[in-house]
Amino acid sequence: MPTDFDVLIVGGGINGSALARALAASPLEIGLVEPTPPAAPAPDWDARIYALTPAVQRFLDTIGAWPHLDADRIAPVTRMRIEGDAGGRLDFTAFAAGVERLASICEAGRLAHELWEGVRRQHRLTLFAGARPAALALGDTHAALTLEDGRRCTARLVVGADGADSWLRQAAGIGATPTPYGELGVVANFRCQHPHADTAFQWFRPDGVLAWLPLPGRRLSMVWSVPEPEGRALLALEPAVLAARVAAAGAHRLGHLETITPPAAFPLRSLLLPRRVAARVALIGDAAHVVHPLTGHGVNLGLQDARVLAQVLCSAARHAASPPDCGDPRLLRRYERRRSEEVTVVHGLTHGLHELFRARARPLVPLRNLGMNLVARMPVVTHFLARYAMGHTEEYKS
Ligand SMILES: Cc1cc2nc3c(=O)[nH]c(=O)nc-3n(C[C@H](O)[C@H](O)[C@H](O)COP(=O)(O)OP(=O)(O)OC[C@H]3O[C@@H](n4cnc5c(N)ncnc54)[C@H](O)[C@@H]3O)c2cc1C
Repeated sequence: MPTDFDVLIVGGGINGSALARALAASPLEIGLVEPTPPAAPAPDWDARIYALTPAVQRFLDTIGAWPHLDADRIAPVTRMRIEGDAGGRLDFTAFAAGVERLASICEAGRLAHELWEGVRRQHRLTLFAGARPAALALGDTHAALTLEDGRRCTARLVVGADGADSWLRQAAGIGATPTPYGELGVVANFRCQHPHADTAFQWFRPDGVLAWLPLPGRRLSMVWSVPEPEGRALLALEPAVLAARVAAAGAHRLGHLETITPPAAFPLRSLLLPRRVAARVALIGDAAHVVHPLTGHGVNLGLQDARVLAQVLCSAARHAASPPDCGDPRLLRRYERRRSEEVTVVHGLTHGLHELFRARARPLVPLRNLGMNLVARMPVVTHFLARYAMGHTEEYKS
């Protein structure tokens, strides 16, 4: 089993596995450390779903993951309707944006499993499944990673894809911890009485942000970001009571609801790092940034990190006579520069929207709703926002 790698990825979640898949076409020797590989998905509808932008969908297609997902379990979003807490309203349509769909809703567990299965079959890739890193030493020419079971690997570049509480981030001395919002993201799936017509709904309510995302058929997936006590109260409700509460919170827009996947909850946090690379280290995904789920951008940012880092490394490999030094600071800076704008803008917009609608100050309530209505009347701005929402900003830079 090889122990010396061009790239050693720590964390085989969605982003770490996607990076490994995107490097498959290169001659680079890859290692991947994942303590808990994803389990095969159950037949039930996953409570955790992702709203993937068309740009990210194309990336997943390129790395061969998208065609293997069950198309009957993926729903398009062709319309987004966003409502404020005092009459503000914004509408985006795929038709107005000149695209077939604004996003695709897919189950998190199925995507993670599909990417992992691809990685398991990949050539020039060594899996350390069930292993956990214990120590990192960063040298001038290599990084050395010791696993808890005593095995030792070296690599030109170590990539941290180990999530919001990244071990690698701390070990590399990029000391930062996510800041809690004091909120839970409560997720559950429902059957709905009326067809959703591929529409995603979002309400900025006084008690938090409620999103209904379309699932295939007459089903929807909810993400309700609420203060922790309210979140715990939602989790304790009987399924029928929860469904009635969610239907009422969404003004019965899709009629009567019936719970089909029981609720689960995740603590919501924020993280924006000044640097996402260090000597022989690069961070991707939630290890590099954590955003509130209200704009549904978390995993999209992470997959764009994976795509861009792979593009930078593959391009270096194409232009070098022998495998390049993947930890070359110039390559790492190129990756960081190309991701900086989108990460900063999306994090700032998401955090700013969250703070604006969390503020209880009376003058802000009509102002923020007026702002939404003004934006709605400016086609140039709505078009820009729709393009940002679809991830069209970074994709065409090379
Ligand atoms: C309620 C909620 C709803 C969300 N909804 C959306 C949405 O609609 N759209 C969207 O785009 N995003 C959404 N997100 C965000 C999205 O879930 C994350 O951005 C995404 O899971 C991050 O993926 P990742 O691979 O970077 O990290 P993770 O998914 O956290 O994966 C990290 C991997 O690293 C492994 N690991 C952990 N510790 C170690 C270690 N010490 N060593 C090695 N490996 C380790 C883990 O086992 C795991 O496999 C949502 C998040 C929440 C909380």
